[in-house]
Amino acid sequence: MKIAVLPGDGIGTEIVAEAVKVLHALELPFEMETALVGGAAYEAHGHPLPDATLQLAKDADAVLFGAVGDWKYDTLDRPLRPEQAILGLRKNLGLFANFRPAICYPELVGASSLKPEIISGLDILIIRELTGDIYFGQPRGRRTATDGHFPGSEEAFDTMRYSHPEIERIAHVAFQAARKRNKKVTSVDKANVLETFQFWKDVVTEVGQQYPDVTLDHMYVDNAAMQLVKAPKKFDVVVTGNMFGDILSDEASMLTGSIGMLPSASLNTKNQGLYEPSHGSAPDIAGQGIANPLATILSAAMMLRFSLNQPEAASRIETAVQSVLASGLRTVDIWSEGTTKVGTRQMGDAVVAAITKTITKG
Ligand code: NAD
Repeated sequence: MKIAVLPGDGIGTEIVAEAVKVLHALELPFEMETALVGGAAYEAHGHPLPDATLQLAKDADAVLFGAVGDWKYDTLDRPLRPEQAILGLRKNLGLFANFRPAICYPELVGASSLKPEIISGLDILIIRELTGDIYFGQPRGRRTATDGHFPGSEEAFDTMRYSHPEIERIAHVAFQAARKRNKKVTSVDKANVLETFQFWKDVVTEVGQQYPDVTLDHMYVDNAAMQLVKAPKKFDVVVTGNMFGDILSDEASMLTGSIGMLPSASLNTKNQGLYEPSHGSAPDIAGQGIANPLATILSAAMMLRFSLNQPEAASRIETAVQSVLASGLRTVDIWSEGTTKVGTRQMGDAVVAAITKTITKG
């Protein structure tokens, strides 16, 4: 089981160190190799995704990723910015399916900005298509407008596009995931306005006929954004395109209390995957030892389940995280009155201790 460990920038290095510690505690035969990515790689090698890092990721069964970015790189040419490393990894590894579970742990009900009755017991899965849509569609750029409301003025444009196979494969991923859950898929689109998303809706409906045991419904993205905060428990699996998924999955993160709790997985057709917390490099708290490592630790659990075929080890991590939360330990982002505030390292140590206890118990 080969794991490429890419901590990245800011809190990335702090939280990945904790996840690696947790993986070691499982006492499984992992081969882990670490490489630079993002701003750290740019500083050392002049590029956010050096060839050696990309090769390491390609050769691994899974990539454990921290986060990249810092405001100080915002003036670099776009291809050299740290965030380009993620896009490069997605593209080169063909990571088309992004899974973001949003689970509200009972102990954290009070940490969400929503009322407890709205989010208590929440367990939804957002599946976002990751390699198509307006983020990658060509052509794109700037030019002088020849038509529209202001011909002759400078304008910018992007292209929204999806092919039949691209929609088909992500739809299959969603239906198969729903089969292992509550057998309901909500496909989110904007078919009332966009040709691309009328096509999306048609193809998802077509694929859905192969899954008669799974209920399929369709929802416009504006309504989905509203329903996610009004009645999120109505959802089971949500499947959507790259841009809508980007926005909705961040919205869903707030249902769970903190973005510091949200893991994610991005998979290709061979189940090779990149596992990362849903948040960024948090330059505002980097180096202080206060970042929540649980999203990264839970991403490592997803890695064990999806790419390394170790479901029991994955459950062991998830159970350990739950028991640590139940014991009242909290990093600053999820802290509330009556609980114990701990730093990044103490939180990682507590998860390791909980795992070691289950191993010792047999
Ligand atoms: P962010 O997710 O880094 O931070 C948003 C807020 O959440 C901050 O206040 C931060 O302190 C807090 N936060 C995030 N993770 C936390 C954790 N584990 N524990 C406690 N608090 C946490 O988003 P941002 O501030 O918009 O972006 C910062 C940098 O990260 C930018 O350079 C951005 O481009 C980059 N970014 C990278 C990724 C990635 O690597 N996948 C994703 C998003 C943003």
